[in-house]
Amino acid sequence: MPGFEVTPRLEIDLSKIRHNSARLTEHLGAMGVSVTGVTKATLGSPEVANALLLGGVDSIGDSRIENIRKMREAGVEAQFRLLRSPQLSRVDEVVEFADVSLNSELEVIRRLSQAAQRQNRIHRVLLMVELGDLREGFLLADLDQVVQQCLKLPNIEIEGIGTNLTCLSGVKPDATNMALLSATAVSLQDRFGLKFATVSGGNSATLNWLYNAADIGVTNNIRLGEAILLGCETLNRQAIPGLYGNAITLVTEVIESKLKPSLPDGEIAQNAFGGVPTFVQRGEIQRSILGIGQQDTLVEGITPENSELEIIGASSDHLVLDSSRCRLGVGSQVRFNLNYGALLAAMTSPFVGKTFVCSSDLIDRNRQRV
Ligand SMILES: *Cc1c(COP(=O)(O)O)cnc(C)c1O
Repeated sequence: MPGFEVTPRLEIDLSKIRHNSARLTEHLGAMGVSVTGVTKATLGSPEVANALLLGGVDSIGDSRIENIRKMREAGVEAQFRLLRSPQLSRVDEVVEFADVSLNSELEVIRRLSQAAQRQNRIHRVLLMVELGDLREGFLLADLDQVVQQCLKLPNIEIEGIGTNLTCLSGVKPDATNMALLSATAVSLQDRFGLKFATVSGGNSATLNWLYNAADIGVTNNIRLGEAILLGCETLNRQAIPGLYGNAITLVTEVIESKLKPSLPDGEIAQNAFGGVPTFVQRGEIQRSILGIGQQDTLVEGITPENSELEIIGASSDHLVLDSSRCRLGVGSQVRFNLNYGALLAAMTSPFVGKTFVCSSDLIDRNRQRV
């Protein structure tokens, strides 16, 4: 009886995630582009990782080594890629649990080499290239030197190169910066006699470019989190046709529901978060309070599935709705769609339960593996 499950909870539909994963991997695969499925927004959920793999992703990427370790220990069988450059203090864990790491500091790669020698393993590095978004990446001018040094490091292999755009500064992947990535890959391969297994063209923000580019050069991989989990591209947050936008939903519950005025009574100062709120006079309205708040999710990033409900505001633990057009009683469960920030926060909140919904073949596979 889903209506009586404990709230708040995230309902994660593994069938929809697998569907989204399959649609994207089929489409991109036809262009010669593999997909690294990114699990970090789900805190490295083994169930989600398996759904991504069933959908055809070629590897699993996560920014946190703890998440990769968790998935490995849960028996997820995949190549694991650490997306955030390793902390020097944690190179041993990185070599132990990740097959590939994305790197932008030679000193880190040297220490990965030492750790790999101690563990008698080969560790593969994907060299990140700075192409304008000014987050991680080697400068183009330094790459020759970096590759030359990497080739000398014992137990290190170069997986290829990659870039990350849009995340920090909003720089769009375009014909110029993406051509530069391909040209860089080609020139490094020529100069050092290498064949890169991976030329990784970015994250969900690179999808539009891949779908529309006249020439994708030698780009042969993309790392996708949000596009698969939330079914949207991330330059303009447009829904991707054929994908589910509600694979993950947040379910909350009414803890008070009363007719109250729409305007507060008294002088208005700062609220709990330092803002001075304003209100619209609508006479008496049905105000429903939900047992969830800013501590559990990014309230600005959630949208009621029922468009008759309207969010009035939220404090740490309470979310207040105008439910005049859709009367809710105490105990009613209310479902929300989430954006990436809201998903990240809700996944990370220990107060929000996580429930998996899935079709039988997925359940079987997860039973086998967890
Ligand atoms: C998070 C992350 C991704 C995935 O980003 P989405 O926008 O969720 O597709 C890809 N690459 C790196 C380096 C990341 O940190």
